[in-house]
Amino acid sequence: MPTCKLCNKRDANKTGSHLISDFILRSMLVEGNPSRRSDRIISNRIETLGTDLFVGRDVNQEKVNELLDRDLSDEDLANNINHYTVDNLLCTVCEDRLSYLETIFKTDIYDKLDALPIQDNKIVLDSEVTCVFKLFWLSVIWRCSIANFGTFKIDNKSENRIRKIINDSLGESIEETRKLIQENCPQINSETIGVLYVKEVDDYLKNLVFCSPFLKMPYVLVINDFYIFFYSKSGHVNAMNQTMFKLDNEFKKDNYINKKNCKSIQIGVVKAEKFKESRDYIYGLKAKDLLDKAVALHNDTFNLATGTKPTGKVIGNFVDALVNEEGVNMHDRYKEDRILRKIKENIVNTIAK
Ligand SMILES: [Zn+2]
Repeated sequence: MPTCKLCNKRDANKTGSHLISDFILRSMLVEGNPSRRSDRIISNRIETLGTDLFVGRDVNQEKVNELLDRDLSDEDLANNINHYTVDNLLCTVCEDRLSYLETIFKTDIYDKLDALPIQDNKIVLDSEVTCVFKLFWLSVIWRCSIANFGTFKIDNKSENRIRKIINDSLGESIEETRKLIQENCPQINSETIGVLYVKEVDDYLKNLVFCSPFLKMPYVLVINDFYIFFYSKSGHVNAMNQTMFKLDNEFKKDNYINKKNCKSIQIGVVKAEKFKESRDYIYGLKAKDLLDKAVALHNDTFNLATGTKPTGKVIGNFVDALVNEEGVNMHDRYKEDRILRKIKENIVNTIAK
């Protein structure tokens, strides 16, 4: 059995580790019953090649039809696992330690967030929760990175540095964890994190978890109503051309980037109408990324099968078959088995000519 990635000591015996806390995924919940949250998640997953769907067992068929424009297939049901959990990364002790941090973040910050006043496009948190806030998001970033979630990966040096900060700051009870966070505050607060928050979310079908595999200065996670920017080096704060997914003109850096030794956390608040534009832009980015990957796979396979590179026309036929088939929605279009089938068909058709 592999060793736990957090303590580096015990066996990684935990199955079903959460990469992203349930309450952060809450706006994906359908017909919310918090006590059975894991059964009720419905989500888009667009981080990898292909889109998969996770539908909670209790979600009614009518709702599914409304979302998908079709019934659930047997294949959907067979693949019906929670994508946001992984096995054998952590030990059960460390999973519990992380859960204490989640509880502290939820009670001290998350549950109070919507009641806090917005001024100049931002929310300012109490100075005493600065390190809880940073440590929580560091833990999410770190977990997504060690799991290589949606090909998200931060550099090794930062991953190791953050592992140590998290490991040193988590105790074996909520009380001990609170104490350790305060003791380790100088290390935690040496990291730089930018945060945007979307207060009003209307349409859960459009919720998304997007771990950008290609942005590094800063790294970016978009998780439903949060945009998290992680600056692995503090100098990256001043890097040119930072991608803010069409929100560039909405914020000054001072309004959402929490630098080393900051006194309190500032969260940029995204207006609902701007969020729609930004979200659509991210979907577009991802669709392009998926198409690029599919075309690359097609070209390699074609080359292997025929010994020659595909012509522009052959590639065009593949793209046309993949993208323009009627009645196929975004969920289904980039499913891996569909892509492989379309590749095969295109090769067979080309050879037959
Ligand atoms: Zn451990």
